Amino acid sequence: DRAAAPLGSIVGLGGSATVGGVDFALIAGPCAVESHEQMSASVEMAKAGGAVALRGGAYKPRSSPYSFQGLGDEGLRIMSEVRAESGLPVVTEVVDAETVDLVAEHADVLQIGTRNAQNFTLLRAVGRAGRPVLLKRGFGCTVSEWLQAAEYVLAAGNPDVVLCERGIRSFEPSTRFTLDLSAVAVVKHMSHLPVIVDPSHGVGHRHLVKPLALAAAAVGADGLLLDIHPDPASALCDGAQALDRERWFDLAGALRDVLTSL
Ligand code: PEP
Repeated sequence: DRAAAPLGSIVGLGGSATVGGVDFALIAGPCAVESHEQMSASVEMAKAGGAVALRGGAYKPRSSPYSFQGLGDEGLRIMSEVRAESGLPVVTEVVDAETVDLVAEHADVLQIGTRNAQNFTLLRAVGRAGRPVLLKRGFGCTVSEWLQAAEYVLAAGNPDVVLCERGIRSFEPSTRFTLDLSAVAVVKHMSHLPVIVDPSHGVGHRHLVKPLALAAAAVGADGLLLDIHPDPASALCDGAQALDRERWFDLAGALRDVLTSL
């Protein structure tokens, strides 16, 4: 009975990792899974900076069909190996209803990307998968449409939904999308679901990730989804927005300062 659910739900991600409540959750990792070596280096970085879960895409929905599309099933296997080695839960995107069960075998959290945010067949399928769902906001969706997308997952029987603001399409080209931090405050007012922010995909430039991440913490987000990479210059996907080790540690420290001052 969702009407009776307490305000401010806490969603378990696997192990002791949670999103919502008093803790601020960092989920970090590369945009795409590229190799076992890259993921091992990434999870070491993620853990050292305080992340509670590792992100990484095995299936990459890219604007161009000629861009790197991800390692697919091999990427899933690498994710689950790195999970076993590190003990960190893993978050990865599922792009169609047919592969939900396969992805759920390898990942702790099923991510729905912005391009599938209103794929209602997929939303119903992840609602039945028995895994928490990280639901990106569609870049053309209003807050109401985003919350109704979440309802598809909840109505299918899955109460464990984390909302993720990742930027909407606007007329402004200086950032990749326009990160709508006002939506975080709006959703915190309207919904019991935890809300995190992905400044990496929102702004698209690593030098802008830190200020937006700190602003997200200040506006009341429950956590962040961040692109980090051991060697951003060699990244096969979205390297320009990935934080290297130094920037990631710098951000993690600055976040602690902001969060303790709130
Ligand atoms: C991602 O997080 O890997 C991703 C592709 O994000 P989005 O769906 O927000 O573009």
